[in-house]
Amino acid sequence: MIIGCPKEIKIQEFRVGLTPANVKSYVAAGHKVYIEKDAGAAIGFTDQMYQQAGAVITDKAELFTKSEMIIKVKEPIACEYDYFREGQILYTYLHLAADKELTDMLLAKKIQAIAYETIKTSLGLPCLTPMSQIAGRLATLEAAKFIQKKYGGSGILLSGTAGTPKAKVVVLGGGVVGLNAAQIAVGIGADVTVLDINASRLSYLDQIFGMKVTTLVASRGNIEKCLKEADVVIGAVLVPGAKTPHLVNKSDLNLMKKGTILVDVSIDQGGGVESSHPTTHDDPVYLIDGIVHYCVANMPGSVAHTATLGLTDSTLEFGLKIANMGVKSACLSDPAILEGLNTYNGKCTFKGVSEAFDYPY
Ligand code: NAD
Repeated sequence: MIIGCPKEIKIQEFRVGLTPANVKSYVAAGHKVYIEKDAGAAIGFTDQMYQQAGAVITDKAELFTKSEMIIKVKEPIACEYDYFREGQILYTYLHLAADKELTDMLLAKKIQAIAYETIKTSLGLPCLTPMSQIAGRLATLEAAKFIQKKYGGSGILLSGTAGTPKAKVVVLGGGVVGLNAAQIAVGIGADVTVLDINASRLSYLDQIFGMKVTTLVASRGNIEKCLKEADVVIGAVLVPGAKTPHLVNKSDLNLMKKGTILVDVSIDQGGGVESSHPTTHDDPVYLIDGIVHYCVANMPGSVAHTATLGLTDSTLEFGLKIANMGVKSACLSDPAILEGLNTYNGKCTFKGVSEAFDYPY
């Protein structure tokens, strides 16, 4: 198959869909790979490295014209739509339920679109988990920065020092993001509490942290008590397929100490804090009632090198199967890839997307 990996063009998006090492795997499997000029340059993957791995460097127009399968990171944006050819395979993050215009383009052009975020195995969402791991770890690191006085924070060092108290870090939701946020917070030396509604998840966290974190059921009473004491609150709740519930209401800000930092990682699903709205890496924080809000919706973008390696490690296996077998056979042989199929031959093939737009499924 002929595969093309274009340069990402969203603002502040430096990740790339294929690394030079990935190219070697596709070429070894008998595929031809086109890489757009400078596609990985921002994170140290030069055109020369791709050429040495066996790729051909080209421009966007030629890449889309010649390729049968396009491998990207982010969903295509309007200025990329015209490049797509009828029947092409698209393998990338799509988030279609939130993007009718893109869904319509994929259906009109009969694109065979496989979304990273809906590929599902018995262990979970393998192409989403690495980004949650990164976002969780970054959440604590960003909190450590934006709690500083110059950003409106309380000016507390998360670890404390000899003779001074540690910061209290409260993590709402103990899934992949929450666990990773807690890991870094424990490593820094903060006093960490994780709340979740899933009792078995709390026991798991209790076991793996060896009692270095406090685990609590996410009841309203426990949440209020934790908010009053917190220096850092990290929102990491997910209800799959639904908008995130508000665990922190606007009126709860009055319970909290001035200068507390709220990192709402769940913002990409609507946010777990009522007063949250999405922010960007260029302007990541804002203050409401003396509480610093950090709500960047694409946190892994700031560590594009690690994020590219984490992402492509998990997308390679499924991508190779699709390239080797074609979409139809790959879906029939691997249920995880079938779960990833969002549009095929002009039809919407993912229930959540068809329901979002009332399209036949
Ligand atoms: P996950 O499914 O692994 O974990 C979610 C946890 O929330 C689960 O343990 C679940 O039991 C818990 N939960 C559900 N309802 C709850 C409630 N009412 N109270 C307390 N806990 C509750 O999900 P994840 O991979 O950790 O992702 C968490 C969020 O982070 C998602 O919204 C995801 O989209 C988002 N995310 C954001 C970024 C970003 O850049 N901002 C990056 C990656 C992930």
